[in-house]
Amino acid sequence: MRNYFLAGNWKMNKTPSEAKSFAAELKASLKGASHKLMVAPSFIAIPGVAEELKGSNILVGAQNMSNAESGAHTGEVSPEMLKDAGVDVVILGHSERRAIYGESDAFINEKVQLALNHGFEVILCVGETLDEREGGKLEEIVRTQTVEGLKNVSESSLSKVTIAYEPVWAIGTGKTATPQDADDVHAFIRKVLAETYSSDAAEAMVIQYGGSVKPGNVKELMAKENIDGALVGGASLKVEDFTAIAKFD
Ligand code: 13P
Repeated sequence: MRNYFLAGNWKMNKTPSEAKSFAAELKASLKGASHKLMVAPSFIAIPGVAEELKGSNILVGAQNMSNAESGAHTGEVSPEMLKDAGVDVVILGHSERRAIYGESDAFINEKVQLALNHGFEVILCVGETLDEREGGKLEEIVRTQTVEGLKNVSESSLSKVTIAYEPVWAIGTGKTATPQDADDVHAFIRKVLAETYSSDAAEAMVIQYGGSVKPGNVKELMAKENIDGALVGGASLKVEDFTAIAKFD
């Protein structure tokens, strides 16, 4: 059985002090929640949030990580730095990293391998743009991002990986994929994983949906067979909303 995994991606929101006090509120409000939970503050807010969430039921995520171990990489944050700051999970390949900062599948794959080698869990984001969907390329794009993102990742490491399916056109737009549309793509990702690895590995993979998840639509999405959680942007910035999402059932 797959466990639900509800995660908040705070993106470039909340200063370190805002993030720390928000984490304290969340910790109280999510106490006793039964699902796997995570929040991903900006890099600079991670130490304060990690300190606040120590011993809680909420994992600490990073929104990105360098593809290098250390050295001359101005502006980057290394795996060791994230580990030392208290990070458990690294989000990689978010569509904003792909679109705005030009991250390729090969580059993302370097980071995936490095993160797993450092003992992190990874959330690998995949998803098509509206043009790609309307041009009939959805399956090709999602297959490529999944397979290339996981290149050289062994089946035994897959238990540390979550896939987040985030259709780009549904991110921050208020447009959600219908639960059925999302479930169809999740089933397709599972099929790709079964072909690449094994049906057991595909069955065990937690696949989150992301894109305008809100308290009002989370239950319907989570009811779908292949949807095992959510990666939440906007609605993870309010305690009340994220609590409702995390405790959807
Ligand atoms: P929204 O929930 O704001 O649409 O963002 C989704 C997302 O990109 C999470 O990573």
